[in-house]
Amino acid sequence: MADIRDRYDALVIGGGIAGMQAALDLGEQGFEVLLVERTPSIGGVMVGLNKVFPTLDCSSCICTPRMAESAHHPRIRLQTYTEVRHVEALGTGFRVELDCKPRYLDEETCIGCDECELACPIEVPHEFDYGLGARRAIYIPHGNAIPQKAVLDVEHCIFCGKCERVCPTNCLDFTAESRTVHVDVGAVIVATGFEILPMGTKPEYGGRLPNVMNPMAMERIQSSNGPYGRVLRPADGKIPRSIAYIQCAGSRDRSIGVPYCSRVCCMYALKQALLLRHYIHDVDVTLYYMDIRAFGKGYEQFYRRAVAEGVKVVKGKVARVTEAENFDLLLRVELLDEGGRVDEHRYDLVVLSQGLIPAWHADGIIDIEEDADGFVHTPEIKLNPSFTTMPGVFVGGVAAGPKDIPDAIVEAGEAAMAAANYLKRFRWRSRTPAAAVAV
Ligand code: SF4
Ligand code: SF4
Repeated sequence: MADIRDRYDALVIGGGIAGMQAALDLGEQGFEVLLVERTPSIGGVMVGLNKVFPTLDCSSCICTPRMAESAHHPRIRLQTYTEVRHVEALGTGFRVELDCKPRYLDEETCIGCDECELACPIEVPHEFDYGLGARRAIYIPHGNAIPQKAVLDVEHCIFCGKCERVCPTNCLDFTAESRTVHVDVGAVIVATGFEILPMGTKPEYGGRLPNVMNPMAMERIQSSNGPYGRVLRPADGKIPRSIAYIQCAGSRDRSIGVPYCSRVCCMYALKQALLLRHYIHDVDVTLYYMDIRAFGKGYEQFYRRAVAEGVKVVKGKVARVTEAENFDLLLRVELLDEGGRVDEHRYDLVVLSQGLIPAWHADGIIDIEEDADGFVHTPEIKLNPSFTTMPGVFVGGVAAGPKDIPDAIVEAGEAAMAAANYLKRFRWRSRTPAAAVAV
């Protein structure tokens, strides 16, 4: 892969579905794009999901073609495992400082054969499977990763040299260092996405108990390429026969600084619950909710389908989750449709429908304002929803606030269009004449 040039039309920060969409839309219009992703692979959260609602299409079947297209597009330069350290306004453009982290191997010559991973003796919980599976100290991020290149985790490596001895291309380099690179761009799109609220945020929900699950971990367990290959509970590998979902487990709650509705939790919980009924036919799945917010196209119908196919929905406020014997869980709930009667139920597994929080903050990196909840502030939300408080910097996807996948893609497209208009107005040109913008 050619090295990073010193000038591009646009920088897109974040290689999830929104960032890829924005980069592709700009690339298709003839702009030269630098797409920067901080992890070793593009694809974001979406590539790890099982299926999408309300269609139940395979998530990676939708995401991976976009990943391949982004990586092979002639006007998109993909730069993974790289942090944007600073963005400074310079007239109509921006000077960007990048921190390119070392993979401890030559990306050009690594062929992604996986021999190093098989030889490595060190096992570490795998981030892609939310700690439920394991990876080695040198590893290819996952089966659908782009680029399919290994990365060495220097924190856990014991430098035994086994990977180096089996590598057919002799590409390992234990002495590699991070590189600082400066690039000039005409516009910036922030598409940094979200993460799930940490599991222990509300201790009364037992987030640290082994059978109380993060919903993203449940996505991995339900995925055919997940850590177990089928639905098992983490503590003892038993097939769960009763599963509870606690809605708004980390949303609409001022006490934890997440006063907003995360918008997708009702739907991803209903989707997972319905799929659980498909995967384990006699499973009892109950959602405890305050309101079901099925706001999007086809969502209300999906909610009704889930109920018709056996998912139980109970209007109830869960007060506490505690561990019983055999790693089972006791759930104490106030039943709102029964005059507040308090009941206790036993479950094999509990999933917390945790809220979405920003995965990245602009503070100290780029001089744009954030809302009180940490998402990027969009001062012209009605007419120009991708505008930030800095001209030339735009936002797309969940970086501006929680939303589902279709909305994230649409907003990323709008951000790309706004960036294209900005570049044309200021006649910004990247260095390559063939890529110059027609104005
Ligand atoms: Fe694993 Fe490090 Fe040994 Fe390579 S040198 S095999 S990465 S422990
Ligand atoms: Fe890459 Fe070498 Fe590992 Fe194969 S063995 S994936 S070429 S580093």
